[in-house]
Amino acid sequence: MQNLSQWGIDLGGTKIEGAIMDPSSPGRALYRLRRETGADLGYDHILSQIAGLISDLESASGVSRPPKIGIGTPGTLDPTTETLKNSNTTCLNGRPVLKDLERILGCEIAMANDANCFALAEALIGAGAGAGVVFGVILGTGVGGGVVVNGRVLPGLHGIAGEWGHNPLPGESRPCYCGRSGCLEGVLAGPSLEKFYREQGGDAVRLPEIVRRAQAGEELAIQVMVRLREKFAEAISLVINILDPDAIVIGGGVGNIPLLYEEQTRVAVMRHVFNRDLHTRILSPILGDSAGVFGAALLVG
Ligand SMILES: [Zn+2]
Repeated sequence: MQNLSQWGIDLGGTKIEGAIMDPSSPGRALYRLRRETGADLGYDHILSQIAGLISDLESASGVSRPPKIGIGTPGTLDPTTETLKNSNTTCLNGRPVLKDLERILGCEIAMANDANCFALAEALIGAGAGAGVVFGVILGTGVGGGVVVNGRVLPGLHGIAGEWGHNPLPGESRPCYCGRSGCLEGVLAGPSLEKFYREQGGDAVRLPEIVRRAQAGEELAIQVMVRLREKFAEAISLVINILDPDAIVIGGGVGNIPLLYEEQTRVAVMRHVFNRDLHTRILSPILGDSAGVFGAALLVG
């Protein structure tokens, strides 16, 4: 009988994805299914969609659910209140998601936020495989991150380890929706880069177009990219000076920009790192959209 113990669920704002990972070939799904989240229909609906997806996986695979399932969520489970917080799927906030799911599904749940699942998957079976300490970065519509040490997610006392997006960036002062100001998310997130381009007189275009224009030699777009390089270097050096990870993997739409992996960016990072040289590997992810659901499955043992 095949061991089908690693089941993962990636709960997103618009879709829920479920996978049974092949234990003999990590990074390959034996079964992979999805359902709509239907977040506008409320909390109970989302829970029933997850339960339905687990039943779908049982039907597809012909085996019953394992005693423990991993789930990645938008937002973080607060270790004190045991309710979810900081989720952009707002109907989940303040809800005891883990306990409710364990009750409904009749199995144990291992839960982590989506940035931590990304970091875990890329650290174990992705770009950072073999590295002891990995900082997984999400640079997308928001900025988040997760820390993996020797194959395990470091959750932190408040469940916020790796959440660097709302650290203040030196010299920045623009107000952030979180109530603070000068947050690095307000500089490095995709929408922030697009906004900066517009503020400098550019068109209202999306980030991939700005990248394309920079590659084509447009001065304004090049300015956006140079600023991204310098600000990213400042922001990531804060992490390197504290955590000194073996590898950094950059996910999210902004992480697709080749400039972040160029030697010039490494030189910019080195200017801020408290060391004479820099051996930290700065890596592009290799698991793509699968990192979330595989990371969730990897939460199980
Ligand atoms: Zn903020």
